[in-house]
Amino acid sequence: MSRRLAILGATGSIGRSTLDVVARHPHDFTVDTLAANRDVDGMAALCARFRPARAVLADGDAAGALRRRLAEDGHTGTDVLDGAAALVQVASDDRADTVVAAIVGAAGLPSALAAARSGKRILLANKEALVVAGPLFIEAVEQGGAELVPVDSEHNALFQCLPAGFVRGDADRVGVRRLLLTASGGPFRTWPMDRLEDVTPEQACRHPNWSMGRKISVDSATMMNKGLELIEACWLFGMEPDAVRVVIHPQSIVHSLVEYVDGSVLAEMGNPDMRTPLAHALGLPARIESGVEPLDLFTVARLDFEAPEPARFPCLGLAAAAMAAGGTVPAVLNAANEVAVAAFLEGGIGFTAIARVISTVLDRMGGARQVASLDALMDADREARVLAGEVVARNGGSATCK
Ligand code: NAD
Ligand code: MG
Repeated sequence: MSRRLAILGATGSIGRSTLDVVARHPHDFTVDTLAANRDVDGMAALCARFRPARAVLADGDAAGALRRRLAEDGHTGTDVLDGAAALVQVASDDRADTVVAAIVGAAGLPSALAAARSGKRILLANKEALVVAGPLFIEAVEQGGAELVPVDSEHNALFQCLPAGFVRGDADRVGVRRLLLTASGGPFRTWPMDRLEDVTPEQACRHPNWSMGRKISVDSATMMNKGLELIEACWLFGMEPDAVRVVIHPQSIVHSLVEYVDGSVLAEMGNPDMRTPLAHALGLPARIESGVEPLDLFTVARLDFEAPEPARFPCLGLAAAAMAAGGTVPAVLNAANEVAVAAFLEGGIGFTAIARVISTVLDRMGGARQVASLDALMDADREARVLAGEVVARNGGSATCK
């Protein structure tokens, strides 16, 4: 049976890696829907190659331009939809059975939630959905009967190393002692601390092992990415934060490990290429070709492991504290991080100010509030963005918040 795909975030790094795998298996997958924000050129090229039945651009003007472009090119058979509501519609109507949730940031939450409620197989790249709305997202998956398959490489590795059919919260019963989440440590792991203030966006986006979108590349450099992933792991597998340990592994060959009570530690290894977890999740339960180079252990030669330095990576501590606090705090953390990273990428604040902006916003917004509804989370998200914007504007590039 051919799977019918809706790929949300199709023009991004994960979207393109997904399509690269899909193109290797034309009989097994049908590309029903491609969705993105406003990249008209990128979407037009994908439409020409994959001929989806629907293309969605969240931005209305960009969608208009795409309609004109497809008409000029004589491309028929692709309906162009626009707006955030269309993202939710294509994630949940009955055309696609598999949704790749690869929009970046909290913007991906409503469509990922809609896919969960409608019982699809969800290939979840958008970790922010679980960070912002962990309890609601898991509830939607369970009530909707969705099949949630993590494609974030570490979580996909954990998923592969856990017993088949592992049910969230089952760790004690199946003898899992803890999860070991590996991190490369990013490009600045060994830099002198006093040089971090002057890091440029280009340096931060030049990841040593993985090629990724700009936002997640900066998150890797600050290790906020690992902080978000710690929260993601807790929700995905029903773990307490202290049963998940972050391990720096600069080669990015071991993608994470599960430690069992009998002393066994199972690892998933491979070259750092997102097409491996994507192919695993697309093909499940079968294994399918991904195009990834086979791992040559003789070339790798050695694997190193070290503990993260808390002073170098303050974002990691902020994320762990946010998970422990619960409620709306992780949503506030995520929103403040998105604003701070965007400001850094635009040259508005320095690299080390990212953690300070987040910490200031967390302090000012106080402790946890109960997560009652998506509206409450979205309110916290909005409030945190406004506050983070003020902190950035007040201190942007200046000594206090550089
Ligand atoms: P990217 O910046 O390369 O692509 C983002 C995609 O989201 C683009 O298609 C963009 O058009 C779309 N988008 C952005 N805002 C949108 C909006 N408001 N409405 C609709 N579409 C919107 O990002 P990426 O690196 O592909 O990351 C995507 C997600 O996957 C992120 O949540 C990231 O944390 C996660 N992830 C990425 C990697 C990786 O290797 N790139 C690895 C693990 C997890
Ligand atoms: Mg990851």
